[in-house]
Amino acid sequence: MEKFLEDDKCCGCHACFNVCPKKAIEMVNDNKGFKHPIIDQDKCIDCNLCKKICPVLKSIEQKYNSVAYACYNKNNEERMNSSSGGIFVLIAKEIINRGGVVFGASYDSDYIVKHVEVSSIEELPKLMGSKYVQSIIGDTYKRAKELLEKDMYVLFTGMPCQIEGLKSFLIKDYPKLITQDIICHGVPSAKVWEKYKNYRREIDNNKKPVSISFRSKEHGWTSYDIKFSYDKNTYSVSHKDDFYMQAFLWDISLMDACFDCHFKKKNRISDITLGDYWGVENIHKDLFDDKGTSLVIIHSNKGVDLFNSIKHRAIYEKTDLDTAISYNSAMICSTKPGKNREKFFSDIENYDFDKLVKKHVEKYGIKWRCKLKIKNFVKRLRARG
Ligand SMILES: Cc1cc2nc3c(=O)[nH]c(=O)nc-3n(C[C@H](O)[C@H](O)[C@H](O)COP(=O)(O)OP(=O)(O)OC[C@H]3O[C@@H](n4cnc5c(N)ncnc54)[C@H](O)[C@@H]3O)c2cc1C
Repeated sequence: MEKFLEDDKCCGCHACFNVCPKKAIEMVNDNKGFKHPIIDQDKCIDCNLCKKICPVLKSIEQKYNSVAYACYNKNNEERMNSSSGGIFVLIAKEIINRGGVVFGASYDSDYIVKHVEVSSIEELPKLMGSKYVQSIIGDTYKRAKELLEKDMYVLFTGMPCQIEGLKSFLIKDYPKLITQDIICHGVPSAKVWEKYKNYRREIDNNKKPVSISFRSKEHGWTSYDIKFSYDKNTYSVSHKDDFYMQAFLWDISLMDACFDCHFKKKNRISDITLGDYWGVENIHKDLFDDKGTSLVIIHSNKGVDLFNSIKHRAIYEKTDLDTAISYNSAMICSTKPGKNREKFFSDIENYDFDKLVKKHVEKYGIKWRCKLKIKNFVKRLRARG
């Protein structure tokens, strides 16, 4: 058994797994719960395809002069059920109406996040909404290729690393392939998600949720809740107060490779990038109503054509990309690892989820609490003049 890339460099995109002609590659969880390839030497024929197509080992540059829009879906229900402005669902519907297939992240029956294909509008809700867990790509790149070879429209959506993995795997461009990535803060571990789900199950009397939303907009897009809905009740808490979201947003549950991400850049190889247009209230006041506004960034002529086909279903204004990025640095900059990240992972089996987070998320530490007290004290003094 051999590795061709250290775990802390590998983004787990599955391109090598999909390309191996001898099925010699298995994607195996590391001790933090992220999948990485392991090569079975008995099956390997040394063709080196895995190394040749690894998106981490190569650098693909896009020369297109990307353009950006502040934008939201005119359909209120679709928008409210999406994390940002509900633009993904507009793009996806357009592809399905062209007889195509859409790939994206969905929950399975145990709320494990996996990439799946969808070919009807009724099934699209499965892919809607951000799932803050690394999605398992499986063999979806191979399946997308099969469909493209049959000259079908394919919309493949995912993290920037997953889109570069797909493009690298496909080698050539297909006229009917549209790729859409997202602005990505970083991806949390499936092991942490599993631990959190078990913790919730214990608290919620072993009940299984009917649905889970990481971005419920009941209290607004900017102050979103994480929401578990059950038959008769719900757990719905601000992202700031939920233990899973704290581990995510304080950067202790993210993948190693996210801290030196290869794929964060302004000009991407995807056709379209979607993100939250944070700060839109300061730039395009008319497009802010706290129901969600997307930042839509177009990187190719295919992206322009697609946007032209859906824009009558949206409210939009052209925007300055650099200004937008100044409010959303995740587009171009990797985040730094949270201070106690290594300890958080090494303690994962030893504590209940709430205790684990309280022990390792900095905001619960004495230093942070003192800093906050001093900051608030100074604020009060200033306010008094
Ligand atoms: C882990 C993660 C981190 C993010 N970080 C940021 C950020 O820092 N800044 C920012 O502006 N936006 C970020 N986003 C993107 C943002 O939350 C929205 O997903 C995006 O703006 C699209 O919104 P929408 O309303 O158009 O569509 P939605 O319906 O909300 O999004 C659906 C799309 O998201 C994809 N998706 C959902 N979960 C995953 C997943 N786990 N893996 C791969 N693809 C997934 C689906 O395949 C589909 O393409 C992040 C998303 C995720 C999943």
